[in-house]
Amino acid sequence: MEIKITKTTTPNTMPPEDKLGFGKVFTDHMLLVDWNVDKGWYNARIEPFGRISLHPASTVLHYGAEIFEGLKAYRRADGGVQLFRPRENIKRMNRSAERMSLPEMDEDDMFELLTTFVKLEEKWVPKSFGTSLYLRPFLFGNDEALGVHAVHNATFMLIASPSGSYYKEGINPVGIMIECEDVRTVRGGTGYAKCGGNYAASTRAGERAAKKGYSQVLWLDGVEQKYIEEVGAMNVMFKIDGVVVTPKLTGSILPGITRKSCIEVLKTKGYTVEERLLSVDELIAAMESGKLEEAWGCGTAAVVSPIGKLAYGDKVYEIGGGKIGALTQELYDTLTGIQWGKLDDPFNWVYKLS
Ligand SMILES: *Cc1c(COP(=O)(O)O)cnc(C)c1O
Repeated sequence: MEIKITKTTTPNTMPPEDKLGFGKVFTDHMLLVDWNVDKGWYNARIEPFGRISLHPASTVLHYGAEIFEGLKAYRRADGGVQLFRPRENIKRMNRSAERMSLPEMDEDDMFELLTTFVKLEEKWVPKSFGTSLYLRPFLFGNDEALGVHAVHNATFMLIASPSGSYYKEGINPVGIMIECEDVRTVRGGTGYAKCGGNYAASTRAGERAAKKGYSQVLWLDGVEQKYIEEVGAMNVMFKIDGVVVTPKLTGSILPGITRKSCIEVLKTKGYTVEERLLSVDELIAAMESGKLEEAWGCGTAAVVSPIGKLAYGDKVYEIGGGKIGALTQELYDTLTGIQWGKLDDPFNWVYKLS
């Protein structure tokens, strides 16, 4: 794929690394590729970062045809830059696209777009452990007409944001509220696709939980509201009586790359991991009998996030004395060690850009 590069004439500089936050600062450039049903992908270009112009009838503004991905570029102590399992994000983006009737892209082409862009923006990868350059590929339907059908035109974009450490004040357990009213998705719906619409529909519950002092909601399945699904933008795992249990991928759960990596690390370390249905009743019983030893969320942003408190109805349960569990900590250390290049990478997960 040929990429036309137009460099900015007014490059910016990186803010201090301890002031970065998440997703607020953007690099100097953005990448765009157009798609048309007859032409396929065309006009791949990198341009100075800035606003884009859309037709008021653009599909994405009316029917929500949008998907995205999230991955990071990490700076090693030796100064080099690397990605973590980028091919997994590319594959998932194509699976999301298929679900939303958006165009798929050749995996090698998307890989080339990603790596070319990150190499161009390499100075924007911050240096401190825990910080990273967050990469946000996204794709939206862009027909300039109101008819409802699979799109004939679409736009792929990639933007990047240097982001601070998720755990500036250290890795502290969070409080989570089990959501009993709203549901995120249903089987047969779009739960396994990383699409904007899933987030639009889940914000209300998140806001209600925040008002009560909880950082996220724990979703139950959309049919019976009986089985545990996932937490906000993270998958979820529980250590019950020595065994790690995580909800199986039923179609309504986002298949996280961090989830998959946690499972592989845990199995290598000799733990039993059960991917199965886990009912909220079983979880409550495990908390009441003291068999729930640890609970954590896992996703690219936080890597591993310990859960110290779970609220269900008007009951609040404390997990592991509200402290981070030993296995949660071990997983966090292993994954971040591989991602930031402090540990060996026996799984071959890392792709070195420099
Ligand atoms: C992105 C996402 C995750 C985590 O996936 P990772 O690949 O581990 O970052 C989990 N749940 C939802 C709803 C997500 O959008």
